Amino acid sequence: MGTHGPVVVVGAGLSGLSAAVHLAARGREVVVVEARDEPGGCCGSADAGPYRFDTGPSVLTMPGTLGSVFGAAGVDMEDVLPLRRLDPFYRLAFHDGSRLDVVDGAHRMADNVRALCGPGEAARYLRFRERLGAMFEAEWSSFIDADMTRLRDMARPYALLKLAAAGGFRRLDRFVARHLTDERLIRAHTFQALYVGLAPSKALAIYAVVAHMDTVGGVYFPSGGMRAIPRALADVAEKAGAGFRYGVRAERIETDASGVTAVRLETGERLRAGHVVVAADLMRARGGLLPGDAADGWRTRRPRYSPSCMVLHFGLDRRPPGQAHHTLHFGREWEATFSALAAGRPQPDPSLLVTCPGEDDAASEDGDGGAGAYPTLSVLEPAPNLATGADWDDLAPRLERRLLGRLDELGYGDLSAAPRITFDPPGWARLGHSAGTPFALDHRFRQTGWFRPQGRYRRVPGLHAAGMYTAPGVGVPPALISGRLAAGRIMEDGR
Ligand SMILES: Cc1cc2nc3c(=O)[nH]c(=O)nc-3n(C[C@H](O)[C@H](O)[C@H](O)COP(=O)(O)OP(=O)(O)OC[C@H]3O[C@@H](n4cnc5c(N)ncnc54)[C@H](O)[C@@H]3O)c2cc1C
Repeated sequence: MGTHGPVVVVGAGLSGLSAAVHLAARGREVVVVEARDEPGGCCGSADAGPYRFDTGPSVLTMPGTLGSVFGAAGVDMEDVLPLRRLDPFYRLAFHDGSRLDVVDGAHRMADNVRALCGPGEAARYLRFRERLGAMFEAEWSSFIDADMTRLRDMARPYALLKLAAAGGFRRLDRFVARHLTDERLIRAHTFQALYVGLAPSKALAIYAVVAHMDTVGGVYFPSGGMRAIPRALADVAEKAGAGFRYGVRAERIETDASGVTAVRLETGERLRAGHVVVAADLMRARGGLLPGDAADGWRTRRPRYSPSCMVLHFGLDRRPPGQAHHTLHFGREWEATFSALAAGRPQPDPSLLVTCPGEDDAASEDGDGGAGAYPTLSVLEPAPNLATGADWDDLAPRLERRLLGRLDELGYGDLSAAPRITFDPPGWARLGHSAGTPFALDHRFRQTGWFRPQGRYRRVPGLHAAGMYTAPGVGVPPALISGRLAAGRIMEDGR
């Protein structure tokens, strides 16, 4: 294999697209192989009659991370994917009937906290917000945005000390409860633990940065819906010279003594490769795609998966008046919510995320109705994954009925006859997600940062991993970052 061999990226999810843009923009020959017929992976879409639904992420944070992928190809995101900053970022609706709008700006937000919890808590909130900011500063470059496969990035004692001093290695619930006293405000800053697949009592306080990202940094929505993100990225990658092969699976990565040599597709075709980026479910990749020495590489105790989710998407006649884009309805139960999920049971009194894109989100460049021409409502309930042994034949219809009843109680009306699409853990498994969860491995300490699987794949020259199974982890910004980091490793390599 000569130097600078072609790069094959397996998977056109957000991580694979990010890797492809960064590599193609720097002149590398890139082919992206995607099993599905379109880009996006988790960030997908589905139709029911005239309704179009975003079926993956809805809470878009850290827009600069997305903007920098376009920027790598010399494209201004504003020109191809204008984003709107939501106001409020979230509406938090508590079981006692009170609510808190999470809004932009420290003082506006403190006003809302004062109205809900009184002046003492508002003052504590402002101090806590500063601590969150300090944690974010300490963590971003040393931990989130850093390449955990490289010794020089791992060994930054000063950065780690700073993070420890900021309280990053405590438990998230204790870290937040040291600063805030109102149970509702504590929930407002710990529910994000679910995004990393853990209870707030199990997650490290470093994951408080997620609360900084969404409650302080803000939540955004692209024109054309979330599904417009992968399309815009694929478009930019293609313009930069990347080739795309849709609707075909990569079946086997071939190697010789020098490292990777090719990717064999299910059609039997062989794509020559100097580097391969596996931007797909790494646990599944171990079952045949990865060469044996890499597949054996991740010898660790049983992988621990994040909880999964049940999502119902509804087509509506009209958008509920006064509805926020995102409303988080907290159930009465809190700790029991997390222990039930870990034990393979549904939440006893579920907390739900209801997403209802606004009318002004309708514009879509391809005239497909966008996010608001045909109003939609989506509800996400965290649910046990398949690895917990839950009996989903029984659970799925029960949870669907319960969700419909709960939505009715919450004032959304009887949606049982509305056009709808349902995603449940067996459905996520059919889409190719290990353990029926689209949220990969959880982020417990031994599956965080340096300990996520990616490092071990370095033992095969030219083989790289990206995506939510690698560091920094699950979510849109981490997936995009992981693609950039994989591209960076390839650019530094002489192959
Ligand atoms: C319902 C839901 C809600 C979410 N909510 C949020 C949110 O609000 N905010 C947020 O930040 N994140 C959210 N996320 C998480 C976020 O969407 C994901 O972490 C991220 O998109 C993962 O991207 P990825 O590239 O790692 O993997 P994926 O999106 O899974 O992409 C992997 C791609 O590889 C392809 N593939 C796999 N194997 C092969 C093969 N052998 N050959 C060819 N192709 C292959 C797959 O078809 C897929 O397209 C959500 C996800 C879901 C599903």
